[in-house]
Amino acid sequence: MLSSFQKTINSKISCSSIALHSGQKTTLTLHPAIENTGIVFVRSDQKNVDNKINANFRNVTTTNLGTTISNSSSVKISTIEHLMASIWGCGIDNLIIEVDGPEIPIMDGSSEPFVFMIECAGIKTSDQIRKVISITKKFCFTQEDKFIEVSPSSTFELDIRIDFDNSNITNNQYEFHASNNSFKNDICRARTFCFEDEIKAMHTNGLAKGGSLNNAIVIGKDGIINETGLRYKDEFVKHKTLDFLGDMYLAQHFIIGKFKAFKTGHNINNKFLHQLFANEDCWNLS
Ligand SMILES: [Zn+2]
Repeated sequence: MLSSFQKTINSKISCSSIALHSGQKTTLTLHPAIENTGIVFVRSDQKNVDNKINANFRNVTTTNLGTTISNSSSVKISTIEHLMASIWGCGIDNLIIEVDGPEIPIMDGSSEPFVFMIECAGIKTSDQIRKVISITKKFCFTQEDKFIEVSPSSTFELDIRIDFDNSNITNNQYEFHASNNSFKNDICRARTFCFEDEIKAMHTNGLAKGGSLNNAIVIGKDGIINETGLRYKDEFVKHKTLDFLGDMYLAQHFIIGKFKAFKTGHNINNKFLHQLFANEDCWNLS
């Protein structure tokens, strides 16, 4: 999947949609960026302050119902993970992401609309070499019964499992092997999901104001409420795969390694990166 050279998009591209938690209509614009920029978010509605936030795991400040990054001026952007996953999946290294509100639009709850935007803009390869993070020694992070483990490998592989105490969530295991079109063909359409009985509590807490059956799978007592059903028989674990890939790309480079993960979420994903990078004998950037 990985070329040796850095990539960006050909031209800028925009969309407008509802943000999941705030319910606000938000405009998102992706801009091409020069070599070695990385992925940088810009809050265009925040003037006279530093409104740039690097997509770096060290800038993650909240992991409750999504990944939020902030800068030292307390400017923040939430729900970045599905967009980050699509940037990972399209192999983009350098990108400026401008947004006019505190949250990335939810679109249909998956990564597919962002892949579509990137493909419409076109992908441009530079002549600058891309650095990647290679795993040199097995590393495992555990939190209660959850874990993320990574071992040396010549490619990116992920064996991921979920375990919800709900009979409507089946097909709990998925193996993702990164290849040219595997992200787009196999997983990018997997939508976010929630349980019907959680919605009231989220609304009470001012969350999920923009949530609907158009941007999430809702699981009720008697099954999935969305009339159109699931997009994949294993859509839940595939969505967890998207969240995982988006969060892992906050490492700022592609990680080459064989991952095994159980009951992941934004919190353990972030803690794993902090611990992995503190163990300098386990990885190499070159
Ligand atoms: Zn998600």
